[in-house]
Amino acid sequence: MLSYRHSFHAGNHADVLKHTVQSLIIESLKEKEKPFLYLDTHSGAGRYQLSGEHAERTGEYLEGIGRLWQQENLPEELAPYLDAVRAFNRTGTLRYYPGSPLIARHLLREQDKLHLTELHSSDYPLLRSEFQKDERAKVLRADGYQQLKSQLPPLSRRGLILIDPPYEMKTDYQDVVKGIQEGYKRFATGTYALWYPVVMRQQIKRLTRDLEATGIRRILQIELAVRPDSDQRGMTASGMIVINPPWKLEQQMNNVLPWLHKTLVPTGNGHTLVKWIVPE
Ligand code: SAM
Repeated sequence: MLSYRHSFHAGNHADVLKHTVQSLIIESLKEKEKPFLYLDTHSGAGRYQLSGEHAERTGEYLEGIGRLWQQENLPEELAPYLDAVRAFNRTGTLRYYPGSPLIARHLLREQDKLHLTELHSSDYPLLRSEFQKDERAKVLRADGYQQLKSQLPPLSRRGLILIDPPYEMKTDYQDVVKGIQEGYKRFATGTYALWYPVVMRQQIKRLTRDLEATGIRRILQIELAVRPDSDQRGMTASGMIVINPPWKLEQQMNNVLPWLHKTLVPTGNGHTLVKWIVPE
């Protein structure tokens, strides 16, 4: 039984990091005219109402997108991401948060394709209805990990694969590595972006060791912590592991992370990190 609902967490600091990285990768892919595939293995519902019961109950977005929304003079690296968020809040009041599929929908071009999967019985119909009129998109109620076998390589031989499981089950930590291996076997030139939460640091150390052991090269780790590591319950940080990142991404994240950290964590707790798990 799937119990995780992203609506409780939409727009939090982890989404800000994830969707900044996602947007920058998409913008880099757009530098060539050739089409590409955006594959989102764990898509969620697509759109989240920030005044809704779930988001209000946790208030997480207030310490995420809520801290960016009113800022002026934003770093240019945030422009594509915030442009997407603004497109869903045209009145200027922050009411909706677009999840990864809607951010992609906003940024992708006519020639690009989206392949989206979501398993949850409540979130899948919401996602499907968002994309009913979008001929670029295929939306399935299906297992995300399976798509890494069945949908790769894309016809266009270019693509971003976003892997964003809820880590509700401990097996997710192994499944993401197996899934990436399967995908990479079929499509070694794709860009794979894996999100991870830091709840127990040991799990992330194991995850990066397991990825290193696959033999895959060009693996970049990007992390933003809002608190120091802890043994207590709760997420202290989150990160993105990007295989075959666009060449600019390392520099872009080094530019923007200090600003993001300062803005999201005014107390200065936590840290930021951009590091190669495996270089070229
Ligand atoms: N990527 C979304 C975003 O950034 O807006 C958020 C996704 S949320 C963290 C994870 C989603 O994965 C949940 O909606 C959950 O129902 C779904 N899910 C869990 N296991 C899955 C699986 N094996 N295949 C596809 N979706 C799954």
